[in-house]
Amino acid sequence: MKKIFILLFIINQLIFAIEISSKKIENANTIFLKIVKKNIKEPKLTLDKHNINFFAFSKEKDSYYALIPISYYKELKKYKIIISYIENEKKVFKGIPIEVIDGNYKSEVINVDSSKVVLNEKDKQRVSKEYEEAMKIYETTTSKLYIKEKFIYPLETKITSDFGKKRVYNGTLKSYHSGTDYRASVGTKIKASNDGKVVIAKNRFYAGNSIVIDHGNGIYSGYYHLSKMYYKEGDLIKKGDILGLSGSTGRVTGPHLHFSFRIHGVQVDPLQAIRVLNNYF
Ligand SMILES: [Zn+2]
Repeated sequence: MKKIFILLFIINQLIFAIEISSKKIENANTIFLKIVKKNIKEPKLTLDKHNINFFAFSKEKDSYYALIPISYYKELKKYKIIISYIENEKKVFKGIPIEVIDGNYKSEVINVDSSKVVLNEKDKQRVSKEYEEAMKIYETTTSKLYIKEKFIYPLETKITSDFGKKRVYNGTLKSYHSGTDYRASVGTKIKASNDGKVVIAKNRFYAGNSIVIDHGNGIYSGYYHLSKMYYKEGDLIKKGDILGLSGSTGRVTGPHLHFSFRIHGVQVDPLQAIRVLNNYF
């Protein structure tokens, strides 16, 4: 009897499982990666020289998960994700090949001289200050995970502009649409997509009245162009709470909700990120 037990113990020690949401990933999408292994320390992950944290995956024993955001501008080619961890005082490495493929985002051709949309010096300074402030927040990873269950959408109305639409000025890709736009007349209630903490609640040049929620583990969602904000920085939010009312503040042509997502500082398609996260949470 004793021998059998020992054998089982050894087999148990050897179990190593990797689960990856996709090995072929479109630019601006997010990969969910999970490893299951007993008695390991310091699991780490590297992609293209970027280090990404693993977090304990609370839903399963001995498992760790990582979110890998792929930038919109990531070169389309094959990469290798390198996972490492310490087992019995030794560092172990595992490689997983992935390929970044074209998200085939639609183009919006704008035949205007982009130099005509010039900001004055004061606005320029404001924009760069707001950008730096926001990036500092997005690049902070909160080790606490606020979310306990699946994400919801801030609105259920028609999507009027998809994430990722390329903005081509005079034949050159200048920028892309950094979120998903929902139809919303002024005064429509906007729901928090999930639990978290408000980290931005202020008026910004482009985004207007903006609320950004930190969901923990590097996940942030943003709600822009609001006419009213009901929360302030530091407030804790529950999924479905009414964050504020939609509007047309900031640089917009009409009222709508711009919904955005950042993971580990990288702007990603919010609806794809929610689909992936909801498969696991
Ligand atoms: Zn938008």
